[in-house]
Amino acid sequence: MKIMHDEALTQILPNQACLGLCVAFSDRYMQDDVAVLVSAEGMLIASLPAWQHHFLTLLNIVSQSNLDGIVVTQWCLANARTIRNLLHDSAAQEHQSSNSDSIKLDHTRAQQALEDLVQQALVLQASDIHLLFSPSHAALSFRVHGRLVGKVDRNRESLAGAIAAALNTRSEDFHELFDEQRLSSASISMSVLDGESIQRIRLRVQKSPTRNGFAVTMRLQREQSKILKLNELGLRTEVVRALQNILREPSGLLIVAGPTGQGKTTTLAALNAEIPATAKVISLEDPIEIIQPNIEQKPVIADHQELNFANMVKVALREDPDVISISEIRDEATAKAAFTASLTGHLVTATVHAHDTFGVLSRLLDLGLSPESLAQFGVVRGILAQRLVSSICLDCEGTDRGCPRCHGSGVTGRQLVCEFLLFDEKVRQALLSKQFEGCRSELLQQGWLALDDQLSSPESCV
Ligand SMILES: [Zn+2]
Repeated sequence: MKIMHDEALTQILPNQACLGLCVAFSDRYMQDDVAVLVSAEGMLIASLPAWQHHFLTLLNIVSQSNLDGIVVTQWCLANARTIRNLLHDSAAQEHQSSNSDSIKLDHTRAQQALEDLVQQALVLQASDIHLLFSPSHAALSFRVHGRLVGKVDRNRESLAGAIAAALNTRSEDFHELFDEQRLSSASISMSVLDGESIQRIRLRVQKSPTRNGFAVTMRLQREQSKILKLNELGLRTEVVRALQNILREPSGLLIVAGPTGQGKTTTLAALNAEIPATAKVISLEDPIEIIQPNIEQKPVIADHQELNFANMVKVALREDPDVISISEIRDEATAKAAFTASLTGHLVTATVHAHDTFGVLSRLLDLGLSPESLAQFGVVRGILAQRLVSSICLDCEGTDRGCPRCHGSGVTGRQLVCEFLLFDEKVRQALLSKQFEGCRSELLQQGWLALDDQLSSPESCV
């Protein structure tokens, strides 16, 4: 590999497209003398520690640079401090250049500010970024394992600028000019450094006016998130086995229940991933949250005249599927379409917003399905109700201030708690006679694990 001496290095012009990425990476590992830049001519220049300990990241930066149109053809070794000086000089120089360039740089700056926020969120393992803009400042916080943490006040102008620039220039579906007082939602995709690798992140942005400003909530979605397997979700072994048995059935309904944000989508993806490749899975989702390469995922818009769930289920039925997955059954038409699909020889996986497994049955009855139709043999196969429970950090015992181990959140993760109702003859009879309570207490006497009991004492389920 060519060694580049300091003097030659100062003549190098960094490639602006991946400058932000190189600065972020080099700044993060400053103490380890790690630094990297890509030149405008396609030369990757990195310090020895970068080559030795972060080779994978360098490869990722190369592929990102290639994507941006600067193909890397040469690899060089250079001094970390000189590389870093060059990176920072380059950013500063561009700031001093012509007016149009400085507007462009403001955009770059704004995007960098947003990328920094996202990177911070990734370090914290946050699911959402919350921003509340008041006339004097912007209050920033992150949702980490279900808790709102890391509250700090930030400069209003720079963050508002970052959001506006990102929406105006980088969103695929934002078709208006940024206005603080308007209600809007949009998606933004970006590449950011996540540990050693570069992640494609999709932000779902929701903006709404408040009493004296506006609020922005951004949900982070990894474009290549790993699809967990059924036995990796944290379900009890016997529940995994029961679910796998149902997935081998040619038809019927398998329902996942729980409130919003309790991992239902992850479970549904794990169920669909269990279906063999010889079966065709059509998944109807509003919105698509986890990319599943092996199944046919279709975006649905719940309140759209044509693209709503009920209609899309009917369309799917004409497309010769074996399995239809419905991201949420929330109206009568969808409930009936799901029922029809399961009656006509299809396995249907779906989520329903309900407190527990028996709550799902009440919900389906409310949505206009009759007890007689639901109690038919082979229609409902099983219901899983789940919750994610915070695992308290053992180092700081979950105090409000947290500690370095939990990044100040007080929790180190979340654990799945569930109840599973196998739809057997006993449950069918209870449905026909609407004697849910009797059936439930009988199950409890036989050692059935109810969700509520586990929530009051989380230790009992592990
Ligand atoms: Zn802690």
